[in-house]
Amino acid sequence: MKDTAKHQGLRNQLAGILEKKGITDKNVLAAIKKIPRHLFLNSSFEDYAYQDKAFPIGAGQTISQPYTVAFQSQLLRVEKGHKVLEIGTGSGYQTAVLWAMGANVYSIERQNELFKATSLLLPKLGIRAKHLSFGDGYKGLPNFAPFDSIIVTAGAPVIPQALMAQLKVGGRLVIPVGEEHQIMTMLVRKNEKQFEKHEFGEFRFVPLLENKN
Ligand code: SAH
Repeated sequence: MKDTAKHQGLRNQLAGILEKKGITDKNVLAAIKKIPRHLFLNSSFEDYAYQDKAFPIGAGQTISQPYTVAFQSQLLRVEKGHKVLEIGTGSGYQTAVLWAMGANVYSIERQNELFKATSLLLPKLGIRAKHLSFGDGYKGLPNFAPFDSIIVTAGAPVIPQALMAQLKVGGRLVIPVGEEHQIMTMLVRKNEKQFEKHEFGEFRFVPLLENKN
């Protein structure tokens, strides 16, 4: 599959749709315009890649809906050079969006099939994640901590303590919390001990699964 002027046009349109839905961060909208989402999907979905919808990516997982990617990315307040940890690499699309926003992205995936495919795809597209890891995201990446922000792209029944511990003071953890459906939740680390909690309404994610590598 190639990236063409037609795809670019569809991306510009998608960014416009997301703006209408309330995404205001210019850095997020620029990343949506830049990253060729159709190249992260099976070619049979090419015609739909720029609709604001989630799609299957194999191993029973989904690429998040663009609005969700944009909403979470906006909450992170990414600045150039920020160290960002992503839990649930999946297709790598969210990873790519964060990279396009100037972040140094560390990402963890627990499905080996997806980990392998995405580890090959990203460099092929010229997208340089700092570190892609195969393992259990509940544990985070203590060796690379602390992070300016952490994004979880699967529904978490509870907020993993390890992720809170790996956040810098002033940093943000953005995580959908819940089983059937999730409440988008943001924790801002105020100091060593205190976190401020914000909630942003309902979303639907595949579950964050523990320890089944
Ligand atoms: N960010 C991805 C979203 C993929 S869906 C994208 O843009 O495509 C969520 C992903 O989280 C799935 O790939 C799933 O395998 C992964 N996941 C679920 N539980 C996990 C865990 N404990 N650790 C790491 N990844 C996990």
